[in-house]
Parts: sequence; C-alpha cells; structure tokens
Amino acid sequence: MNEKPEISPRQKKRRRSKKTLRAEEVCWTALITALKGVGPARAATFAAARINSIGDLLTCYPYRYKDRPRLHRIDELTDGQEACLRVRVTGKGSNFYRGRMRMTQVPAVAMTPQRDRALPLEDAVEHRITLRWFNQPYRAEQFEPGTELVIVGRMRLKGEKLAVVVQECERASPDPTGSPGLGIGKLVPVYSKIEGISPTLLRKLIRQALDACQELPEALVPPELATDRGLMSLRDALWQTHFPDSGEVQEAARKRLVYQELLLLQLELARRQRAVKTPTTGVGLPLEESAWDEYAGALPFELTAAQERVLEEISADLAGPEPAHRLVHGDVGSGKTVVAAWALYCAVRAGKQAAMMAPTELLAEQHYRTLCALLAPLGVQPLLLTGSLPKPAKAQVRERLASGKPAIVVGTHALFQPGVEFSDLAVAVIDEQHRFGLQQRVALAEKGLRPNVIVMSATPIPRTLALTLYGDFDISVIDELPPGRRPVQTKLLPDRKRQAALKLLVEQLAAGHQAYVVCPLVTEGKKSNAEAATRMYENLQAELAAFAGGEEAALGLVHGQMPALQREDVMAQFRAGEIQILVSTTVVEVGVDVPNATAMVIFNAERFGLASLHQLRGRVARSSAQAHCVLLTTSKTPEVIDRLRVLEETSDGFKIAEEDLRRRGPGEMVGLAQHGLPDVHMAALLADTPTLVQAREDARALLEQDPNLQARGHKLLRQALKAVSAKARQWTI
Ligand code: ADP
Ligand code: MG
Repeated sequence: MNEKPEISPRQKKRRRSKKTLRAEEVCWTALITALKGVGPARAATFAAARINSIGDLLTCYPYRYKDRPRLHRIDELTDGQEACLRVRVTGKGSNFYRGRMRMTQVPAVAMTPQRDRALPLEDAVEHRITLRWFNQPYRAEQFEPGTELVIVGRMRLKGEKLAVVVQECERASPDPTGSPGLGIGKLVPVYSKIEGISPTLLRKLIRQALDACQELPEALVPPELATDRGLMSLRDALWQTHFPDSGEVQEAARKRLVYQELLLLQLELARRQRAVKTPTTGVGLPLEESAWDEYAGALPFELTAAQERVLEEISADLAGPEPAHRLVHGDVGSGKTVVAAWALYCAVRAGKQAAMMAPTELLAEQHYRTLCALLAPLGVQPLLLTGSLPKPAKAQVRERLASGKPAIVVGTHALFQPGVEFSDLAVAVIDEQHRFGLQQRVALAEKGLRPNVIVMSATPIPRTLALTLYGDFDISVIDELPPGRRPVQTKLLPDRKRQAALKLLVEQLAAGHQAYVVCPLVTEGKKSNAEAATRMYENLQAELAAFAGGEEAALGLVHGQMPALQREDVMAQFRAGEIQILVSTTVVEVGVDVPNATAMVIFNAERFGLASLHQLRGRVARSSAQAHCVLLTTSKTPEVIDRLRVLEETSDGFKIAEEDLRRRGPGEMVGLAQHGLPDVHMAALLADTPTLVQAREDARALLEQDPNLQARGHKLLRQALKAVSAKARQWTI
C-alpha cells in the first residue's frame, strides 16, 4: 500500500486548466443538475439509479475494466475482430434499409499507423473504409468531411472492401495519442447499466464533475492516516478509477476508495462496541482458580486446545471491568456449547444470573438437556423458559429470576419478552447469532441490563465477512474439531441413482445407526419438481421395503409448519432411537445433536447454498463413527454440479463459505441476506482482507484518540458517520 504509482502529467495539467462556467455550483453535495447537460428529466433518470448528488455520481464506480487496445493497423485486422481505429471522414453519409434495420454508411479513410510505431500519423498510409451504424440515422449528417474520429467497432472484411460497424466513436483530438473518452491503449471502465444513460454520457458527466469539483471530501480519510497507509488522495483516486492511466495506478486508486469505505464502516462498528463496552460497575466476575479446575474436572471429555484458548479469552473478558462483547465462531461440531456453559457457570458461581438464548424451541430444549448434564456434577440445575411451556411453569421460572437468586436459564426469545425480569443478569449467551436481530440486543438494553454478551455462530463465514458483520465484537475462533472426528464422506449423485442413497440408509440402519432424509420443501408446490418432505415420508417406507426385502424402518417427519409440541415429540423419539429415519426440511440445519445419526440423504441439493448443505451434514458428524452424506441432484448444469462438488472435496467450513461467497455473492449466503449488509461498493470482500484488518485497527485507534470525532480534522468523518449510523439501525448485527 506504500508506493505511489506515477500519474501522467497530462492528466494533472488537464485538471488545472479546465473549468466549467458553473464551477461554483458544482461541489460534492450539490445535485447533479449542477452539471451541464443534466436537466430535470435526466436527473430523474439518475435518481432511479439512486444517483442524486455529484458525490453519488463520482462514487458510481466501474465494476470491472476492459483492456482497450492501442490503435490498430488496418492490415493486422481480421473479419469480426474488435478494432480501434483513427479515421477521417471523406464524404456525406447515406441512410437506407437493410431488412427492417435502418443502416447509415459514412465513407472514410483509416489512418494506419506505421508498423512498430503506433504513431505519429504524418506518414500514415490511408485505406478506404466504410463506417456503419444501425438505427442512428442522424449519423449521416453528423460529421463534416475532413473530421477525424477515433472509433471502436467490429471489422467486416469482404474481399477488398473494408467496413466497420461502429460501437463507440469520438472526435480525435489534435494530440495524436489523445482520446480521452475512449481511452485508447488504456483500461476502460465498465459500469453497471443505468437505464436511460449511455456509458459515454456517464463518462462525460463524471469527467465534467471531476473537472469542476473544487473540493472533495478528502478528509474522509484523515490526512495523517492517508500518509501512513500510503494512500493516494481522493481526487487522484477518483480520476484513476474512472480514467485510469494503467492497471497499476487503478489498483492503487481502488485501495484508497476501499479503505475509505471500510474505515467508515469499521468506525460505526467500533463506535457501537464502545457504547456497549463502557465500563460499568459490577460486571466483573472475579473467579478463583478452583472454579476452572472444578469445571474442567466435571467434563466428560478433554477440551481441545482451541476450546481452551477461547475459554481463556472469555475468562479474561468476564474478569474485566467492561462487559464482554464477543463472538465465538466455530464450525459445526467444534464444541461451542461447553464454552458457553463455562460463561454461564462463572455467573452463578459469582452469585449472579445467566441466560442462554437459542433461535428455536428445539434447540433451546436440547441446550437445556446438555447443560443439565454438564452442570449437574457441579450442583447447578438450569431452568428452561420457552413459549410453549405451560403457564404455571413459566410463572415459576419468572418468579425465580425476579427473586435475584443465582440461576441459569435457557430459552428462546421468550426470555426477553416483557414480563420476564432478571434481577442480576451477568452473562447472556446467544446461540446461532445469525438467526437473531439487533432487536434482541436492544430488548436486553431496554431492560436496563448490561450483561456480558457472548454470541456463538456456526455460520462458516469467511474472516473478512466476519470482520465486517461482527466488527463491533471481539472474535474468538474455535478452529479445531474434537479428536477422532472424521470428515463426513460426501457423495454427489444424479437423482436417478437414488438407489445408492437407499442402500446407504439400509446399511446404516442395519449397523444400528440412525439417519436423516432432507427435502427442500414441506409440501409439494404446484409448479415445483422438488421433493417435498411430507410426500417423501409417505413413500419412503415402500421404497425402502422394496429395497431391503420387505423390512420395515421406523420413520418420523419433522418440519417447520408443525405444531411445536408435535415437533418436540418427534425429536424426542428420534433422540431416543425410536425413530430410525427422520424425514425433514432444513429445520434440522441448526444445532441438532443426535450422535447416533450417521447418515444423511439430501434431495434436490442444488436448491441449497453450500454453507447450508455443510451445516446440514454437520448433523451427522457428531461422533467418532464414520458418517456419510449423499447429495442427490436433478440438475445437469455444469456450474451447479461443479459447485456441489466442493462438498465432496472439502469439509472445511470456512473454505466452503469462501467458495459460496465467490460464486454467489455475499447477499446469497445463508442468513446473510437478513443482515442487510451495508453497501460496500468497492470492497471485494474476499480480496481485501488486509485492508479490512487495517481499517478495523485504524478505526479503533481513531476512536481511542478522539471518541466523538470532535477534532477539527474529523468533522467530515463525524458527519459521514452520522449518516451511516442512521442507515445502520436496520442492520441486524
Ligand atoms: P457446536 O459447536 O456445533 O455447537 P456442540 O457444542 O453441540 O457443537 O458439540 C458437538 C458434540 O461434540 C457434542 O456432542 C459435544 O458433547 C462434543 N464435544 C464437544 N467438545 C468436545 C471435546 N473436546 N471432545 C470430545 N467431544 C466434544
Ligand atoms: Mg451448537
């Protein structure tokens, strides 16, 4: 990030010399109608693409670049090739019809640069060439004979006759290398299509705005930071983004703009973290050594090194004077529950209360059972609070919490409903965080509670995204699975080979194991060919029986549209081994822990994201027995098959998540759509990790120095942050 690539002197000169008549009006925050050529109608067209101000226009960045070749020599071109030529119009144009298309032809000569010397043109050899346009009859009259143009178009060679179908053209400047708009020999930006605005017009307006804009909000990156990080000025960065001199400079420009966006985003996140982490009295949980020994001693297994590390990080948080605000991030099955349990235990040991919130009743009940088992040897009996609990039971739990006695309570969001009063909440653990919104955190704060907050997520999101989405959290990663775990053997098969899947089920059942069968739908849709869980449940028995010589299997059905009690009942039977095969939808995706289940068959796998599939198969990797997963697909599309193959190849959740992100974009990832990820225009989330990490550190340091951004140099940042904060209220993080 430290070297500043050369910027051509030509461009610097142009910037100083050119001024628009209405320069006074053109500034970053002005409406784009301040530009020449933008009236109310065009402004409305832009507004539809959410471009209202000059700043909006200038931050409408290209999403990619294409190489524009140098000027071609006519004798090196072949039929159909894209050509870039300098031509001189030699006569009047004519219009006629070819079929239903209106065609315009204009006679010209191509001015071929000499071999091995792109230019100058004085000694150029001339070739006759016809310029063609379709459906632009005004072209016939547009150019006086003698006009020199630079054109980009497709070559048509028929015998000796040369023609070019013109795609873009502009008047050539006297300077033989100059072709500002078309950027001959340079990188040409490609913008997302704005309905009603041609790329040429867009570029013209951007150029005009850059030329005329006297002041740019350079201070969005404070100057000392810009210097330290070796970033170019905003003005240079905008010029080089829209009119790059070279790939190298453009890349440096992008760095500046990415950094600027990420700094703002990270400032917002750091600001929030500071808000929740203001030191308060009484949150520190001083613990004796013995607590740790007792806890570890009561566990039925040895902790992995990763678990121990994260437990230490949490202990340090809990002992400190600021409330913890930590994300524990670990792949499915990495053992997050024991880590959470430690934090809960610390709270009751210190005579306080603790809560653990799960996104579904199914999961809350499971956690409750797990915690009961884990903590029983330590003499702690947790409580359960979910919506479907009978009223008297609920009242009893509420009473207990209000009494202020030390307690651990596990539940769903029912925990934070009005009417539930904690008297001394010291620790709140939120499991599978991505299913929850900011609301729950707000609900906590509204109860006047400032507990230590620990959120746990198994969504294997790439680090970059984690830093973005959870920028206001400290992050711990459990990057190791308990010993003896073997990756789920995963096989992708075309749907017509479902016999192989049945065989797997029969074998696993014969070995005393259990299995899941997952379908994308609950009931059959009218138009859909995808498998529905209910029908699968009805038919599977017969299919299996036919396969296994008439032997019956105990089947169960669970899906999200079932009444909670019925669902619980089915899950209980599955856990107890009374149900051998559980047919379900993705309700089993999150957290369900039945170690004896070792096989999973997923129908219409193409309908799920990779990360979702990975979570699903995580259900069967819960013991040291070899687990199997068969993915069935009806898709024949090579990209789809290719995507699904990733699961055969790796069981690394983070790799899979990156692959998902690369192929589908961040919005498509499980759960992330709801996050309402802010527009990070420029930040290619995968490529920019170092910049992101840097911006995060810088943002935190900046607030450390100037918590309210009161310094004069920080005024712009303060204002920008206000705007971000207003928007950020909707983010569910
Ligand atoms: P997740 O991270 O997906 O929430 P869990 O906490 O549910 O994972 O743990 C998955 C399984 O692994 C549970 O059955 C748990 O008892 C077991 N487990 C957790 N930690 C260890 C360990 N260190 N050694 C052996 N088994 C463990
Ligand atoms: Mg879990």
